[in-house]
Amino acid sequence: MADKNIPYKIYLEENELPTSWYNVRADMKEKPAPLLNPATLKPMTVEDLAPVFCTELARQELDNDTREVPIPQEILDFYKMYRPSPLVRAYFLEKALDTPAKIYYKFEGNNTSGSHKLNSAIAQAYYAKKQGLKGVTTETGAGQWGTALSMACAFFGLDCKVYMVKVSYEQKPFRREVMRTYGASVTPSPSDTTDIGRKILAEHPGTGGSLGCAISEAVECAVKSNGDYRYVLGSVLSQVLLHQSVIGQEAKTACDKYGIKPDIIIGCAGGGSNLGGLIAPFMGEKLRGEADYRIIAVEPASCPSFTRGVYAYDFADTGMICPLAKMYTLGCDFIPSPNHAGGLRYHGMSPILSKLYDDKMIEAVSVEQTAVFEAAELFARTEGTLPAPESSHAIRAAIDEALKCKETGEEKTILFGLTGTGYFDMVAYEKFNNGEMSDYIPSDEELAKYREMLPKVD
Ligand SMILES: *Cc1c(COP(=O)(O)O)cnc(C)c1O
Repeated sequence: MADKNIPYKIYLEENELPTSWYNVRADMKEKPAPLLNPATLKPMTVEDLAPVFCTELARQELDNDTREVPIPQEILDFYKMYRPSPLVRAYFLEKALDTPAKIYYKFEGNNTSGSHKLNSAIAQAYYAKKQGLKGVTTETGAGQWGTALSMACAFFGLDCKVYMVKVSYEQKPFRREVMRTYGASVTPSPSDTTDIGRKILAEHPGTGGSLGCAISEAVECAVKSNGDYRYVLGSVLSQVLLHQSVIGQEAKTACDKYGIKPDIIIGCAGGGSNLGGLIAPFMGEKLRGEADYRIIAVEPASCPSFTRGVYAYDFADTGMICPLAKMYTLGCDFIPSPNHAGGLRYHGMSPILSKLYDDKMIEAVSVEQTAVFEAAELFARTEGTLPAPESSHAIRAAIDEALKCKETGEEKTILFGLTGTGYFDMVAYEKFNNGEMSDYIPSDEELAKYREMLPKVD
């Protein structure tokens, strides 16, 4: 059954780790639309961003031109704790599907935080430390980003203040305790520690909170810290896609070593960071006209930013204090139904991926929750790894493409990102196992309502 030339797992050597991050913006002829200052509607400058973001990260955010950004040695050393990550050939899944397709996945769940988010967390903590800050503030929904950032801050001896969406804080006490074990302080959001939190609590007593609201609290906390803290974000931003390019560069090196050429590359898309990272070097080739790949972003039907959103300037947060970003969005007031892939519940999408999608360089599909968990179950039973619900969106799409190959007899090569493990998501699996999972899809009227509330920019 197995291809004798291709092992089950391709592990690179430590000395094959990429030594630079790859900035895909350098190869885009038309750049993503600039972030705008919400007060003046002028493009943000490093000086505008500096009260909120670490200065070096603000520079990376606005840098559309530097192709290779060297990875500082301390970050490279940290990466060696859990990287390179394996590129796995899904022989067992292929067999179960009886497909001629060749399926590979890049597995990012091999660290305690359980996801790819650590790749950017360690970079952001490093620049905060180098700037001499006392600490950083952030929000977390499902908890993966907060956990990754807590680990990174512990490594550099930085203080870490996490605003955790209140429903998750209550439903996922173990995530919270992992963060506290790494030394972070975790506050349920909305809280009475910020003006915006108090305002939201007064208007919506008893609310379970949202990601947009927790972002506003974390930003306010940083801005009012007398310069001791900055705010950090685990997805959406261009700097995060830059850091996540290690995923794609390793995958490309492994593919090249064994003469593997993916026809289709698939990733789940919440804010777009894992997909942006996985596709980066492949997209570079595509943009330079050196190779072609079909690239598919997979999102939940309950939060369909690409497939049913609009490409427009919007706020990143509910409190409307963050810069305006042009992106595919459902509107910053949209609060998705409580589906079980917390990491995919953001209203917007990376401005880089949004531009590439608008330019038809990538495609998108949306999938329903029950079908996602059916794919997760098959994957767990065949490949052995219990996938995160977010990652299982990519598994679903990969399986669907492999089944199409079965129909047509084509031997396509499919590469997808397995972003993490699902050990903290057992309430979701319990719902699925009990047959109690529902698929909520917003109506056109509902989406239109939030679209009308978008800021009027152009
Ligand atoms: C956060 C998260 C995602 C989604 O975020 P992106 O920025 O779109 O990558 C996907 N999978 C896992 C496991 C996550 O933790």
